[in-house]
Amino acid sequence: MFFKPKKTPPKREKPLSVPDDFWVKCPSCQTILPNIELEKTAKVCPKCSYHFRISAYEYASILLDNGIEKEIGKELVSVDPLNFPDYKSKLEKYRKLYGMNDASVAGIGHIDGIKVTAFFTDFGFLGGSMGSVFGEKFYRAADHASKSRLPFIAVLFSGGGARMHEGIYSLMQMAKTTVGVIKLEKAKVPYITILCDPTMGGVMASFAALGDVIIAEPGALIGFAGPRVIQQTIRQELPEGFQRSEFQLEHGQVDLVVDRREMKKTVSRLLRMMLASVL
Ligand SMILES: [Zn+2]
Repeated sequence: MFFKPKKTPPKREKPLSVPDDFWVKCPSCQTILPNIELEKTAKVCPKCSYHFRISAYEYASILLDNGIEKEIGKELVSVDPLNFPDYKSKLEKYRKLYGMNDASVAGIGHIDGIKVTAFFTDFGFLGGSMGSVFGEKFYRAADHASKSRLPFIAVLFSGGGARMHEGIYSLMQMAKTTVGVIKLEKAKVPYITILCDPTMGGVMASFAALGDVIIAEPGALIGFAGPRVIQQTIRQELPEGFQRSEFQLEHGQVDLVVDRREMKKTVSRLLRMMLASVL
């Protein structure tokens, strides 16, 4: 025999809904943190200092006084020169998702009152990979910086290196961005690169490694081919921390490893020193 309630139970009040992005789990120490707290610490875990991957615009708002004040090459859109399967639909998807035309953002801003040209890449958009729009934006920004004699800062989250969907057109960007850096050098304009997790492939093998000062965020993976590819090729165990920022600092590939919370202060200090000697 089953018990039948005489009355229907009173309706429960709707449970409080918590937005999906309210809590974030630190992938390093597994601490659950409220997103709002992370925003106060430049998206660095307050417990273990793990540096979360952030978007190009988020980094711009941390590094620059008022974010990007005027964008360069915002209107540029990648075409699909090789008719690569699904490339067009992927571009469309990421454009809608991130509100940006490609994996990079370039523009003018200020760091502690110093006018700069800055370039940021976004890992979320096809791994921050370098296609023809990426290369063209970098070149235009570097050209502007050299003509206006503004320091140039490049902040990179680029795991994809050169974008495979554009084949040889992507590889050509390694040469184009390098020409941009040569322009900066000829104009005696300070050029600082900030390598975040990850900075790999054709990006690292061109303009990212050419900074007058190369700064890395702690724990970032920095290199050309990734550790798995190298290990499978040479069939040897790789040393602990291979290709991480601290390893690259020890081996002379980067000049400084700087916590994101100290980045603006450090870049501002470097710029003041560099500008005093060249301008
Ligand atoms: Zn943590």
